[in-house]
Amino acid sequence: MNPWFAKAIVLASSLAMVMIRAPHGQRSRGVKVVRSRRGTSEIALLTLAWLAFFVPLIWIVAPVFAFADYALRPIPLFAGIACLVVGLWLFARSHADLGTNWSITLEVREKHQLVTHGIYGHVRHPMYLALLLYSLGQALVLPNWIAGPSYGVAMILLFAFRLGPEERMMREEFGKDYETYMGRTKRLVPGVW
Ligand code: SAH
Repeated sequence: MNPWFAKAIVLASSLAMVMIRAPHGQRSRGVKVVRSRRGTSEIALLTLAWLAFFVPLIWIVAPVFAFADYALRPIPLFAGIACLVVGLWLFARSHADLGTNWSITLEVREKHQLVTHGIYGHVRHPMYLALLLYSLGQALVLPNWIAGPSYGVAMILLFAFRLGPEERMMREEFGKDYETYMGRTKRLVPGVW
């Protein structure tokens, strides 16, 4: 299949992600941060995530990763598109439910509220699930062994190091309420984990 098809999908989904986040990012920038847990490992992982976000875009415009290209096949392509669509939908949904409580890093904002409704009633980290689905979609759609899985690798690393500290921070901030919430929800997959 023509790799231009993959290029168009990767570009459209990257743009969709930026457009979904932009208004929420702008809104939460207006709310003061009262506590931050952004340590050196968090900064390193966020930098890695940003770099990894651009690797597929570099693959679109320049042949630097051409040595790792392979042929695009219909089944992974369509499975990948499905993951991208569901991932982007979940990304938009979780941003809408989290509202101005969202931060790109581990932070508590002024008048921070514990969100347990909407998609947060099903899992505690729907936005991370969305990003993992999105990354899986990108890995399936993008026929290159480096650019395809790059964002997914960065997301797995980021969440592996962040989930524990994030839940600790939320427990310290919301005490019993967060513990009760933890008791009735799973992290990423309802009923599983
Ligand atoms: N881990 C969540 C949120 C990601 S954004 C998800 O995947 O959907 C990260 C920030 O969201 C954290 O710094 C924390 O301040 C905030 N946060 C995480 N869970 C929250 C919740 N249930 N209610 C309110 N804020 C939350």
